[in-house]
Amino acid sequence: MDIIGIDLGTTNSVATVYTEDGLKHISFDGDFLLPSVVNISNDGVMVGVKAKNMAMIAQENTAISVKRLMGTKETLTLNGKKFTPQEISSFIIKKIKETAEQEMDMEYKRCVVTVPAYFNENQRDATTQAVKLAGLEVLRVINEPTAAAISYGANRDEDILYGVYDLGGGTFDISIIENSEGLIEVLATKGDNHLGGDDFDKKLANLIWEKSGFDIELTKKLEIKLNQLAEKTKIALSNEDSVHIDEKFFAKKDGEALHLEVDVTKEEFEELIKEDIDRTIDLLLETLEESNNDIDDLEAIILTGGSSRIPLITNQILERTEKLPVLIEDPDKSVSIGAILQGAMIEGVDTDSILVDITPYSLGISTLKDEFSFDLILSKIILKNTPVPTSKTSRYYAMVEYQKKFQIDIYQGEDEENLDANVKIGEMLLTIENPVENGAIDVDFRLNQDGMLSVVGREIHTNEIVKGEFKTKVAKSTKHSNVKEMDILTEHDKVIVEKIDKILENDTILDEDKEDLKELKEKFVSAKSEEKASLEEEIIDSIFFLEGA
Ligand code: AMP
Repeated sequence: MDIIGIDLGTTNSVATVYTEDGLKHISFDGDFLLPSVVNISNDGVMVGVKAKNMAMIAQENTAISVKRLMGTKETLTLNGKKFTPQEISSFIIKKIKETAEQEMDMEYKRCVVTVPAYFNENQRDATTQAVKLAGLEVLRVINEPTAAAISYGANRDEDILYGVYDLGGGTFDISIIENSEGLIEVLATKGDNHLGGDDFDKKLANLIWEKSGFDIELTKKLEIKLNQLAEKTKIALSNEDSVHIDEKFFAKKDGEALHLEVDVTKEEFEELIKEDIDRTIDLLLETLEESNNDIDDLEAIILTGGSSRIPLITNQILERTEKLPVLIEDPDKSVSIGAILQGAMIEGVDTDSILVDITPYSLGISTLKDEFSFDLILSKIILKNTPVPTSKTSRYYAMVEYQKKFQIDIYQGEDEENLDANVKIGEMLLTIENPVENGAIDVDFRLNQDGMLSVVGREIHTNEIVKGEFKTKVAKSTKHSNVKEMDILTEHDKVIVEKIDKILENDTILDEDKEDLKELKEKFVSAKSEEKASLEEEIIDSIFFLEGA
């Protein structure tokens, strides 16, 4: 099967393929987690753990957490070139495709890619574009919690109602799901696209910084190092009551090394994130209510996503709902497992489950509040929590006689009275060639299984089909994109060596430091590949220190 299941995460991405012997996770530099980090140098594009290392010494050419920008018009300039978020994401997917092909010795042409349930049309569209730019066909876009549910539900016969609580690096999703006779149905879903482990890292980084007592400026560079340290500390605090941080050469002041020595307790960390966790549980309860169930109906709460390993989550859920949540086996892998299982189902492999997904937002167009005012309101066409694919048509009447043009502004959201509280996802102009005195149009919304919306308008009297151009707000990658020609590097030794050489030319650096670095360089150049990773870390730490923050 030439399909890859891709969990395109904010912090890490995971890819799974289907083989005759079962599922297989693709391995990137020895790990199934591929850091979603992209570094652009003159030599090419580096993706993954090595790009993450580069974030410390070449942050201006490195993109992290680009998923947060998907669907926006923002661009990133890396190594002097401008990229859209979808172009950056496409490098991650290209890396996945190439690594999978090398590892499995076959060509992969299609993929099932996952997105947070709460992603809007623009964000889904940007994700699809990223996949295409990477040279893969999108077989299906599915929601992350649904994918987790598929992996949980696979090989399970019982009919149950459960919640999937998915807290990753950058996003939170909650879905209420029903398994009934092999049918996996998402009853309701909610989420927050800006809440996840990265936010916890930032809060912890602030605390560590406060405790350090350093009176130096926290530069962008130091901030990246501090965040990485905070993430390590956070992960350790999932298993330990307190962590002792001891970094001898953390920063530099007036040429002297600053020693970072700080203790952080689990209690302090929990205090920082308690409000966020409480909010996720509020959302869980709201979603449950929307699905017309209450907490007693819920048979299980499944935790997935890397951040759900934080023990406070289990404790708080238990305290507030009196249900003990279960951490899904392999929370990092479950989404990509669900994605590949979905791919297998589409291919006709019998996995005993059928998927029903829903739209997390209502979709509609703006209309006048009434004939006496110019106030605009939202007229919903497709309601939230409707299973997809779905289509619905609504009729709208002309404002003036012989109206020639109908401007259709498409929105998603729930607030009917206050149009601005909703998100505009596109607009189109329907031009009527032969207007009638009392014109009216039917607006047809079709939402496909990938959550993509297409809109068609038709004049009802003349039966004249009017065609409108659907424009989303996404900065589309145009033909000019040079993503396809840019090589994904498998090693970046040259970039590291060039960086070292630049430091060696720097007159402000002490000779003895240069000698140490030279020695490291020689070791690195002649090292075998398995020794390279640790040497690279050492070099990066040393460059970071010598360059000063
Ligand atoms: P995901 O997007 O599902 O891969 O989740 C990534 C997030 O999970 C990152 O913010 C990680 O720092 C976080 N994470 C991974 N393992 C743990 C752990 N044991 N404790 C707390 N957070 C973790």
